[in-house]
Amino acid sequence: MDIKAIRGMNDILPREAARWRLVEDTARRIFSLYGFSELRPPVMERTELFLRGIGDDTDVVEKQMYTFTDKGGDSVTLRPEATACVLRSVIEHGLLNADPVQKLYSIGPMFRYERPQKGRYRQFHQINAERLGEDGPFADAETLALAYDLASAVLGRDALLMEVNSLGCKACRPGFKGALEEFLASKQDVLCGDCMRRMHTNPLRVLDCKVESCRQAVQGAPSMEAYLCDACRGHFDGVLKGLHVFGVRFERNPRLVRGLDYYTRTTFEITAVGLGSQNAVAGGGRYDDLLSILGGPPVGGIGFAFGMERLIMLMGEVQDRVSGCFVVAQADPAVELAALGLIAELRAAGIPAEAAFGRSFKAQMRRADRAGYPLCAIIGEEELASGTLTVRDMQSASQAKITRSGVIQEITSMLAENKGERA
Ligand code: AMP
Repeated sequence: MDIKAIRGMNDILPREAARWRLVEDTARRIFSLYGFSELRPPVMERTELFLRGIGDDTDVVEKQMYTFTDKGGDSVTLRPEATACVLRSVIEHGLLNADPVQKLYSIGPMFRYERPQKGRYRQFHQINAERLGEDGPFADAETLALAYDLASAVLGRDALLMEVNSLGCKACRPGFKGALEEFLASKQDVLCGDCMRRMHTNPLRVLDCKVESCRQAVQGAPSMEAYLCDACRGHFDGVLKGLHVFGVRFERNPRLVRGLDYYTRTTFEITAVGLGSQNAVAGGGRYDDLLSILGGPPVGGIGFAFGMERLIMLMGEVQDRVSGCFVVAQADPAVELAALGLIAELRAAGIPAEAAFGRSFKAQMRRADRAGYPLCAIIGEEELASGTLTVRDMQSASQAKITRSGVIQEITSMLAENKGERA
């Protein structure tokens, strides 16, 4: 077929699904340990939501959104990130009226028109968390600890680096921005075109630029830390203390900024050892003004997003462990009907069962082997007549005769034994 998937949008094939499931299951388990509930917003929203909620002067809004006019004439956008969507939903459904503290997570696809490369796609998946209604530093520390736990559970502590910074607030950031702008003005000859423009509109973004000459240029730039007001400094100290108590290994990085405009105070990033240039696995931070920017109450929040593709790229192989029983039947209509009954009975008892009738005995066994079933129940004319079954352990190739009437009990205990051996 000459129709292929869209560039940068990938199929997740069955052989990769075990890793995806493991990451999702791990995330759900850790979220529930921290008292987070799931919220599933739609994948498409009104364009205006992202224009307001992300900021005009970001790569995402300037260059990367999948925006189009729908048949009703409305401008809609495939979501490039989840935070604005989750907050829109919280506001729309008045969730903060019911409970002034909201701890929410969502998992799903995001869309950005980026230049695809390893670790960077046009449809990718994020695990996202938002925590609203708690302004204290320990809420931040706990949210960062959650992200750290998730990353460590999937990748192991030694494979990751967590970096933390404070971006200050409306009171103290202008002082830093001014000093940074002045510094950048002295570097004009080496900054890239984007940074020349951003130097005046959003100088913090220049610190985040990946162009080598810009990275070099900002080496001696002033750092936010020196400009933090007393309240922001106290908050940041509290965050760092909380992180120590939670046992989070982190480094302070005074140059760390986030690509989006709405972050205040605590910001962080998790990078992976061994991912090359696309090594950011997760990022996030506090956003005290975003909810009100979107028309909600003046309630602060903190959140993060993990890139699932990047987590999955770093994981080792995960084998899908098949349990259950493959039923092999002699090519005879009466035997096959009896085998069908057996499959139905196994499934009704919660035992996965499969068959591939109409092939040679050998071919059926091969399928059982390929699918990874630990047991095969073999049924032929002889078994049918005597009310028995032959059960084969696929690993040891040993076979045993069991009675048809005791099949569920026998197979259940053989599977339990098999599991014990493999564990
Ligand atoms: P962001 O929403 O830009 O802060 O990104 C959060 C995380 O999502 C990043 O750390 C990456 O792991 C992941 N991510 C962002 N953009 C992409 C992309 N185009 N392809 C794959 N993963 C991405």
